[in-house]
Amino acid sequence: MGERVEVEPLATPFDTWLAGDPEVRKLLREEAVRQRTCLQLIASENFTSPAVLAATGSVLTNKYAEGYPGRRYYGGNQVIDEVEDLARRRATELFGAEHANVQPHSGASANLAVYQALLEPGDTVLAMRLDQGGHLTHGAPASITSKIWRFVAYGVTPASADPARPGEVIDLEQVAELARRERPRLIVAGATAYPRVLDAQPFREIADEVGALLMVDLAHPAGLVAGKAHPSPVPFADVVTFTTHKTLRGPRGGAILCREDLAKRIDQAVFPGLQGGPLEHVVAAKAVAFGEALQPSFQAYAAAVVANARALAEALAAEGFRLVSGGTDNHLVLVDLRPFDPELTGKEAQEVLDRAGITVNRNTIPDDPRSAFVTSGLRLGTAAETTAGMGPSEMARIAGLLVRALRCRHEDAEVARVRAEVAELCASFPPYPELERAQEA
Ligand SMILES: *Cc1c(COP(=O)(O)O)cnc(C)c1O
Repeated sequence: MGERVEVEPLATPFDTWLAGDPEVRKLLREEAVRQRTCLQLIASENFTSPAVLAATGSVLTNKYAEGYPGRRYYGGNQVIDEVEDLARRRATELFGAEHANVQPHSGASANLAVYQALLEPGDTVLAMRLDQGGHLTHGAPASITSKIWRFVAYGVTPASADPARPGEVIDLEQVAELARRERPRLIVAGATAYPRVLDAQPFREIADEVGALLMVDLAHPAGLVAGKAHPSPVPFADVVTFTTHKTLRGPRGGAILCREDLAKRIDQAVFPGLQGGPLEHVVAAKAVAFGEALQPSFQAYAAAVVANARALAEALAAEGFRLVSGGTDNHLVLVDLRPFDPELTGKEAQEVLDRAGITVNRNTIPDDPRSAFVTSGLRLGTAAETTAGMGPSEMARIAGLLVRALRCRHEDAEVARVRAEVAELCASFPPYPELERAQEA
């Protein structure tokens, strides 16, 4: 986590309640310090509100609630039913969907449940390849999805030197060609490392032409769609899955949206098909997050996330990095390190930046000559630091700090100086100012 920075623990109730377990309390304090003193630039991470933390840490964790509101297998679920109904109502309102299932424990569980609901083992699915930006659950060899269903993969168009048409966008011609040849039962649109807008309409047209169902995996940009910075895929997709903890800024979890005619199949696939008792404390926290995303201020947040990513991308391009697809439309930037320094791998860059207090993840770039463990790329996201209040000028400053750390990676003293500046920058943008103020009082 870089050099340690001394700060007081946050004044959370959890800190008080953990007095009886100093070992765990110490670790939680250390992680809170890391989050407050390092730059959080992992594209899939965010800072939840204190209200989301409170619901996640609530007594609802004590309750078993297998089933759905009004149809539970255990007694005592009157309140839980209201909590889950509230979460479902807010989710359908937020996304303009007919039905929501808020029980999936994660984005991966949500995807598995959809496959289980809509497919027979061995059915063909068309999805984006992992090393082109897709997710493990889109049929990667290491994922159980590839052992149960037959995945055929599409990718992005080749990179080009023409700045007007930089390439590396979803190859829709390839999607259409593969769909006609392979006749998939399901087409999956959505990615984990794709810096452009996901347009669901052409996928709908291809799915209709070949009689396939369309699932949009909105794990990353769910908050951008909720905040109206990106177009909604809901009118085009049969099913939409998403995570609640990435740009949507809620608790760690997943959810599924679908049309009413698929609701029963989806619900049965989640429970009893895939999961047991739902995490109702997390469902309550999802309700809180959906409520927050329904506020007008969340639209300003989503727009700021996108503006910050653009500012970060421009500053990095000016420093000599190549941006995959030439830039970004969303919350993330995928950087090709090779033009900056052909010797520098994603793995080494991530390690140096960790020492400097800049938290990022290495990532393969399309057609990466290096392995997924080493990589030639870095993925950076703006969702978390935008929540903390940073703007375009901070993004430019971050790019400068990042470049200094990478250039001077063999000089420990300079990396330590960058670390100190990072801590100073973070101190002006605390993720939980409410809790810092509580402490001063
Ligand atoms: C993050 C992600 C998931 C999985 O979410 P988890 O909550 O980590 O299981 C699924 N699909 C895509 C495209 C993702 O980016």
